[in-house]
Amino acid sequence: MTEASNPFLGHEHRRPDVDAEEAARLLREAFGVEGSLRELGSHQDRNFLVETAAGERYVLKVAREGLGRPALEAENAAMLRTAAAGLAFELPVPQPARDGSLIVRATTAAGAAHDLRLVTWIEGEPLDRLGYLAPPVLRAHGEMAARIALALDGFDHPALDRALQWDVRHAGSVVEALAPFASTPERRRSLEAAMARAAAALAPLAPRLRVATIHQDVTDVNTVGRRDAAGRLMPAGLIDFGDLSRTWLAAELAVTIAADAFYALDRPLQAARDVARGFLPLVPLTADELAATWPMVVARAAAVAISGDQQAALEPENTYVAQCRDEEWAAFDAVAVIPFELATEVLREAAGLEPTRRPVVSAALGATPPVVRTAGAPVILDLSTTATDVLPGAAPGAVPAGAVGRWGESRLTDTLLDTSDESATVHLGIDLFASAGTSVVAPVAGRVRRVAQGIVIEADGFDLRLDGVDPTADDDTAIEAGAAVGMVSRHGPDGLPAHVHVQLVTVPGLEAPRRTVPSQAAAWQALCPDPSALIGLAPGVAAAPPDDAAGLLDRRDRVLAGVQVHYFDAPPRIERGWRHHLVDTRGRAYVDVVNNVALLGHSHPAVEAAVARQLRLLNTNSRFLYGVMVEFAEALAARFPDSLDTVLLVNTGSEANELALRLARTVTGSDDVLCVRGAYHGWTGATDAITTSPLDNPRALETRPAWVHPVEAPNTYRGRYRGPDAGTRYADDVRATITRLARRGRRPAAFIAEPLYGNAGGVVLPDGYLAQAYASVRAAGGMAIADEVQTGYARLGHFQWAFEQQGVVPDVVTVAKAAGNGMAVGAVITTRAIADAFAAEGSFFSSVGGSPVACAAGLAVLETIDREGLRENAREVGDYVRAGLEAIGLRHRLVGAVHGMGLYLGVELVRDRETQEPAEDEALAICERMRELGVIVQPTGDGNNVLKVKPPLCLDRRSADLVIDALERTLTDGW
Ligand code: PMP
Repeated sequence: MTEASNPFLGHEHRRPDVDAEEAARLLREAFGVEGSLRELGSHQDRNFLVETAAGERYVLKVAREGLGRPALEAENAAMLRTAAAGLAFELPVPQPARDGSLIVRATTAAGAAHDLRLVTWIEGEPLDRLGYLAPPVLRAHGEMAARIALALDGFDHPALDRALQWDVRHAGSVVEALAPFASTPERRRSLEAAMARAAAALAPLAPRLRVATIHQDVTDVNTVGRRDAAGRLMPAGLIDFGDLSRTWLAAELAVTIAADAFYALDRPLQAARDVARGFLPLVPLTADELAATWPMVVARAAAVAISGDQQAALEPENTYVAQCRDEEWAAFDAVAVIPFELATEVLREAAGLEPTRRPVVSAALGATPPVVRTAGAPVILDLSTTATDVLPGAAPGAVPAGAVGRWGESRLTDTLLDTSDESATVHLGIDLFASAGTSVVAPVAGRVRRVAQGIVIEADGFDLRLDGVDPTADDDTAIEAGAAVGMVSRHGPDGLPAHVHVQLVTVPGLEAPRRTVPSQAAAWQALCPDPSALIGLAPGVAAAPPDDAAGLLDRRDRVLAGVQVHYFDAPPRIERGWRHHLVDTRGRAYVDVVNNVALLGHSHPAVEAAVARQLRLLNTNSRFLYGVMVEFAEALAARFPDSLDTVLLVNTGSEANELALRLARTVTGSDDVLCVRGAYHGWTGATDAITTSPLDNPRALETRPAWVHPVEAPNTYRGRYRGPDAGTRYADDVRATITRLARRGRRPAAFIAEPLYGNAGGVVLPDGYLAQAYASVRAAGGMAIADEVQTGYARLGHFQWAFEQQGVVPDVVTVAKAAGNGMAVGAVITTRAIADAFAAEGSFFSSVGGSPVACAAGLAVLETIDREGLRENAREVGDYVRAGLEAIGLRHRLVGAVHGMGLYLGVELVRDRETQEPAEDEALAICERMRELGVIVQPTGDGNNVLKVKPPLCLDRRSADLVIDALERTLTDGW
C-alpha cells in the first residue's frame, strides 16, 4: 500500500478536551439532565458516568472530532435495534435531548464543537476487572458475540462503509501506518512478521468470507458482568457500538477471542475453544471462515497493540492507555506464536467438525523401508499413566531394542508434579527403540534438513521428523527412500533410552513439538497423524487408545445408582495415585488434599508388599489362628491409653460405629444414644440413625428414631455458643438432654462424637467440652464413644488421636479409613471389661474383618507411620499449611475461618463474615478452578462451604505451596 492510499497514516486521534465540569454544563444545556459526572476510561473519546439526584445513571459520550454524525447515527440505530431484540443481556439505549434529537452538537468554552449523546448505563462490573475467565464465562462471552451478530443481521447504514481502524480487514494498513510508534524495535519486527503471515493466510480465503454488519468489539472491556450464584461474573451487558462495521462476519468471533486471550496468556487456544463453543452453535462458520479466524485474531491483536503504542505516545498522561498497552502486547505475543493450522483444528473441534484431511501421505506410500532394522516383531511399550513399572516423571528401566513407543500416548514419564500448568504428555510420534549406533534409513524420499536432535525429511507434501538421530546425511541434500541418513543417538529424546522418534508433520515447515499438552492434543494429532504406515507398521498397533473419560462417566451413570455420587461435573479419569499426588489418564498430576483414606500416600509400597505377600500365603476368615491378626491388634492397642487394651476387627467406619453402639447398648441395657447435630457416622442402620448431616440427608433431623438424641453441634465458629465458656455451654446441652431422658425414666447407652468435628470441616472442639460431656454420660450410666474414623492415626500431628486434644479417654474408640490406607480395615478399641460384658450377646464374627490380608495392611500402616515420621510431618507441614491459609484469610473476605489442626484443616467460605452465609456455590466453583490449577479439593460441612484439607500425611512443603498458591490465585483472580 502506498503512503497516499493508507487512510491510517497521520491519522491521530486526540480525545476531546472536555473535563467533567464542562461536560456537566454541556449535558445540562443539551439534555436538561443534572447530575454528578465521573470520567470513564476511553481510547479516543470522552465518556462520563452521570448520576442524577434521583439515582438514575447514564453515560454522556463526547465524540472525538472528525468522527462524523452519520457514524453516530448508525451506532444509535444499531443500539435501538439490538436493544429491542429481546436479547438475554442488556444494551445501552440512546436518550433524547431537549430538542428530541439523539445527537446534539455542542461547543466548548474553548470553541471546539463536539457531538454529544446520552445513553443508559448498564449496572454491573466490567469483565476486565478479573484476572481469570472461567470456561462458562468464556462460553457465555462467545454466545454474546454470536447473539449480537444475529441481532445485527440484515442491518445496514450508509455510514458503515468506512475505513475503521478496528476493522480487521484494515489491520495490515493500520500496522503499516503505525509501526513507527512501536515501543521497541523487537516489537515492531514481531508485529510486522505476524501481520505479514496473517495477511498471507487471509488473502486466498477473503473472497469466500461472508460480510455482515457486526458489533466488532465484544471484548472484556465492553462487557458488563453480574455475579451468578457461584460468585462468577457472567456477561450481562454489552456497551460501546463505536466499532460497528460491515466487515467479515468471522471477525465477530475473532475479536472476542483476541480480547479474552489476555486472561489465558499461557493457554490462549483453550480459551478460544471455550469462546468458540459459545459462538459457533448460534452462528456456524464455514470451514474457510474457521481457517480465517486465527489470522484475524492475530491481525486484530496486532492492530490493537500498535494502536496502544501510538496512543501512549500521543498521550503520555493517559494512564488508562498506558495500562492497557502492556496487556495488549501480552495478548498479541500469546496469540501470535500459535500456528494458524493448529488454531484452525481447535476451532474445528469446537465447531464439531472432523479434523482437516490432508491426504498427502498415501501418495508417498510404497514399500517403505523400516527406519531402523531390528529383529523380531515389535514389542509395544506401555509408558502410559497406567503402566505399573514406571513412576511419574521417571524414565523407564531397560527397554528392549525393537520396542515401540506409541503415538498419541499420554506418558507418565512426562508428567510433572507440583505445577499448575498442564504437562506436555501426549506424544505425537512413534518411538522406535534401538541400540545407539544402529543405522537409520529414510523411509521416504525427500530433502534432508538437520535439526537440533536429528533430521527432518522434507518429502512431497509433508515433513517427516526423525529425532534421536546423529545425522550422517548432509544438510539440505536430496535422498531416496532407503538411504542411510544417520545413526541412533546415544541418548534418546525426552529422557528415554536410545530411540528414534518418528513424527509425521502434514503441514510442510510447521514447527511441531514432539509432545503436547492434553488440551491441545486433538488438534496436534490432526496435524501430526499416526505415522505407522510410513514405517511399515500395521495401522493402529502403535497408536494409544484414546482416553475417554466422558464415555466412562456415561457408563458409570448407566450402571451405578445415581446416589453413588462422584466428585466434579466432568471428572478427570484417575487411574493412578502416588504419594499425595493423583494422576489422570492424560498425565496431569494433581496434589490430592481430599484423600484421608490414603494416609501414607497413594500406592504405598509397604502396603502393596505386605498385601501381596499375604495374598500369596493365606487370606481367610478371622476364626483361624494366624500371627498377623495378633500383631496388628497388639500394635494398634499399644497406641492407646492403657485402659483401651482390647480390639474388635471389622472392615469399615460404619461397621466400627455400628458395633460400638451395639457394645454400648448391650452393656448398659439402654437404647438411647446422644450424638452431635450435623455429624456423619456411617450408612448402616444404627449409624445412619445417628447421622444428622444435612448434606447427606436434608430431612435428617425430622426423621430420627426416638432413641436418637442430637445435641447442639459444638461448633465455636457458627454454632450457638462461641465465647470462652463455649465448652461448658455445649456440655450443658448434653447434661440437659440426659436430664430430659431421666425424667422419662430413661438412661443413655452412649454419647458419640468426633473428637475434632470433621464433618463440620475440621472444627476443633471447645476446651472442656468432651471432658464434661463424657462425665455426664458416664454419671448417667452411659459410655463415651469417640469416632476417630477421620481424625485419628496421627492426622492431627500434635496428637495421635483427636481425643487427646480434649484431654479425655473414651470408653470406646472406632477407627477405619486410614487404618488400611485404602484397604478395608476397621476396628473398635475398648476396655477388656466392656468387651467381656458384650460376650453376653454371644460371639462376634465378621468374615473378612481382621482377615490376614486386612491385618497385613493394617500393620504395614502403623509401622510406616512411625518409620516415615508421618506424625511429625503432619504437625510441621500442617502448621505450615495452616499459616498459609490463615494469611489468605487476612486478604480475602470470603474466608470466614480456618479450622483444624495438623493435616485436618478446613477453609470455611462465607458470603458475609457477619451473617456467615455459607458460600456453597462459590465453594464448588472454586474447587473446579483449583482442579484446573492442579489441586484436588472438595467442600464439606452443613452448608457444603468448607474446603476440606486432609491430604495423605506425606504432603511436603513443595506441594503445600502449590495448594496455598492455587487458593490465593483463585481468590485473587476469580473463579
Ligand atoms: N465416621 C466418620 C466420622 C466418617 O467420616 C465416616 C466416613 N465418611 C464414617 C464414620 C463411615 O466410614 P465408612 O465410610 O468407612 O463406612
